[in-house]
Amino acid sequence: MNEIVVSGVRPTGKLHLGNYFGAVVNFVKMQNEYPNCYFFVADYHSLTTHPNPIDLSSNVRLTLIEYLACGLDPNKCTLYAQSDVPQIAELYLVFNMLAYLGELEKVPTFKDKVRSQPDNVNAGLLTYPVLMAVDILIHHAQKVPVGKDQMQHIEMTRNFANRFNHLYKVDYFKEPHGFHYGGEPVSVPSLDGQGKMSKSKGENTCIYLSDEEDVIRKKVMKATTDSGPTEPNQPKNEAIQNIFELMNLVSKPETIAHFNDTYNNCTIRYGDMKKQIAEDMVAFIAPIRENIRQYEADKDLLKRIMQDGGEKARISASKTIREVREIIGLKF
Ligand code: AMP
Repeated sequence: MNEIVVSGVRPTGKLHLGNYFGAVVNFVKMQNEYPNCYFFVADYHSLTTHPNPIDLSSNVRLTLIEYLACGLDPNKCTLYAQSDVPQIAELYLVFNMLAYLGELEKVPTFKDKVRSQPDNVNAGLLTYPVLMAVDILIHHAQKVPVGKDQMQHIEMTRNFANRFNHLYKVDYFKEPHGFHYGGEPVSVPSLDGQGKMSKSKGENTCIYLSDEEDVIRKKVMKATTDSGPTEPNQPKNEAIQNIFELMNLVSKPETIAHFNDTYNNCTIRYGDMKKQIAEDMVAFIAPIRENIRQYEADKDLLKRIMQDGGEKARISASKTIREVREIIGLKF
């Protein structure tokens, strides 16, 4: 499969199990199936929120470390920091001339930001979809693994690509498409019994890949349950459904079957179930946490990986910029 794949991740620092099962595993799968994967940490994008410089650089570093620790392999994919590829900034400038105020103002994610951070409605927020289009088009990607909320940005990317082709009477940029593996998208539940695992719900509702064993145990034991089923085969409420879903992610099928049986015949003891989940989660996360520790200890290795990834990304991006300059007449 020779299609080019591009995806960016936010430099949020610590990844939790939701990020792992919802996003990272797909990247790992894709790098094995597609030889041309570009995965980057979107540090230019994050400037819209004005992070302090120390937090930004440490979060970019940590995010890269955690993706590597989960199995992203720099020999199979191109892994880089967006800001290591200044050609992206140049193409962003070009595409800003092709994007119209009216269409950008209508984007739901922009409208959300206007509501949620009225004191910082900067132009970077408005042109966020332009930068995202450039992240994709700079490598001529056809496949972009994104969630439903980003689908509109992919459609805008197609519009910008077609607008460029039309304006300059070329057939240069190809249309990219959102990509996801078939089936229901995985949704990892929160430990508080409600909804999805998310950093915004608080530290204790998430299991992080960097959590120590005792922290994992404590968090799981505090997960919300109820007083237990009162009649056989009773439907599970959300909190109980969630705890079973967490078990599904990390435990063996026979363990899951056992606790389902005890739930259905009303002999379940949630304390035992949570102890089991905690131990299975500890075992699941241990090798990832060990990898994180090793990458953190070897600063030179990370630097080398980032330099090589940046170099590969710049080679691809420079070719695009050279050709774009030629097409639009920036040549002397
Ligand atoms: P975030 O940094 O919270 O925007 O998450 C980054 C990506 O991780 C999302 O686009 C999802 O693909 C994935 N993700 C985050 N939380 C969950 C969750 N609870 N269940 C499944 N996937 C998730």
